[in-house]
Amino acid sequence: MTAPVNAELSASLDAARQDYAALLDKKLKLDLTRGKPSAQQVSLADALLALPGDEFKAADGTDTRNYGGQQGLPELRAIFAEALQVPASQLLALGNSSLELMHDAVVFAQMYQLPGGQRRWSNEERIAFLCPVPGYDRHFTICERFGIEMIPVPMTADGPDVAEVERLVAADPGIKGIWCVPKYSNPDGTTYSDETVRRLATMQTAADDFRIFWDNAYAVHHLTDEEVQVGDILAACAEAGNPDRAFIFGSTSKITLAGAGVAFFGSSEANVKWMLHCAAARTIGPDKINHLRHALFLKDYDGVRAHMRKHRELIGPKFDAVLRIFDEQLKDIATWSHPKGGYFITLNVPDGCAKEIVRKAAEAGIALTPAGSTHPYMDDPEDRVIRIAPTFPSLADIEEAIAGVATCVRLVAYQKLTS
Ligand code: PLP
Repeated sequence: MTAPVNAELSASLDAARQDYAALLDKKLKLDLTRGKPSAQQVSLADALLALPGDEFKAADGTDTRNYGGQQGLPELRAIFAEALQVPASQLLALGNSSLELMHDAVVFAQMYQLPGGQRRWSNEERIAFLCPVPGYDRHFTICERFGIEMIPVPMTADGPDVAEVERLVAADPGIKGIWCVPKYSNPDGTTYSDETVRRLATMQTAADDFRIFWDNAYAVHHLTDEEVQVGDILAACAEAGNPDRAFIFGSTSKITLAGAGVAFFGSSEANVKWMLHCAAARTIGPDKINHLRHALFLKDYDGVRAHMRKHRELIGPKFDAVLRIFDEQLKDIATWSHPKGGYFITLNVPDGCAKEIVRKAAEAGIALTPAGSTHPYMDDPEDRVIRIAPTFPSLADIEEAIAGVATCVRLVAYQKLTS
């Protein structure tokens, strides 16, 4: 026997149906799919485009116009050493994309034996990575491209479920890595606790060449006055006697120019040597003019922090608008993250509804990141997580789009609850 449908629920469904019909009439065309900076945000770095002017010599006299300088410009590495928690001597400034460096690190590990390893990964029968979920879809794409098995691990308020991580890596020598976005994670804005950082650094791994891919993409991307700090994984690994365990990645993509910024790789001396050896076969050196341009523009770490406050002024109101509208409209049927930084808000809808909500939103002209993208193999087993990326559209468009998303959530959730 089916339970009688609660009258209140069916009234809510009727209201949602009417709101959805009105939404369709608006014929919107709005895109909330990717975490891109807005035009105003990238304009904050317009002055970069005029640099370095005639000043093409680096502080040590290097002519940045020529080949060489494989580690990147020292003055830029010094600026980002503190932000990325890597000594400048162990931090490389390279191309324009940290994702490219993560991709390359995975490819290089297949081709060249890692410090501490017995053989290159391509000679292993099976390679697996732990993937905290929800997570970043492009990490998963790298694994898929190279046939690396992905093992999901749930995120908690302190980072990945570290007891589960410990259990898995201790038992399985095929697990060679874990993807981590340790601060203001993509998509749920979590910052790993000190305890999580310590346990990741100290845990026993069955693989002797296990690596933590520490993608600190949002190291300085604060949305509140609190500049949240994450534990120093490199130091923790060294202290634990696992100095080669962490690969650190970061970039200025969402600081200066997305697509024309500078990406960084940091690690132990042995890993940096390994990376430089691998990279030497593919380039005679990075774009040092861009490095110099960035060093002149940002000046020092305080310059980075001041620049990021300007980003916050632009994007803070967009995040506030999303949270306000969710609060007004979805309190009873969904939950969402309240990030203190980063680029995303995670919306958790009732189980089994996410795909249908994204479909309904698309029908109404609102493009959302496909449901499932936050999980390996596009498989969100609960069909629950929707990633909201509020930075790119204007505030007015965000308000319109999020109100529309809320309507879709109410429609699909009430339909499910009353069926
Ligand atoms: N890592 C994370 C977690 C991201 O969210 C993004 C972009 O959205 C990137 C890396 C891409 O960084 P880059 O532009 O340096 O390749």
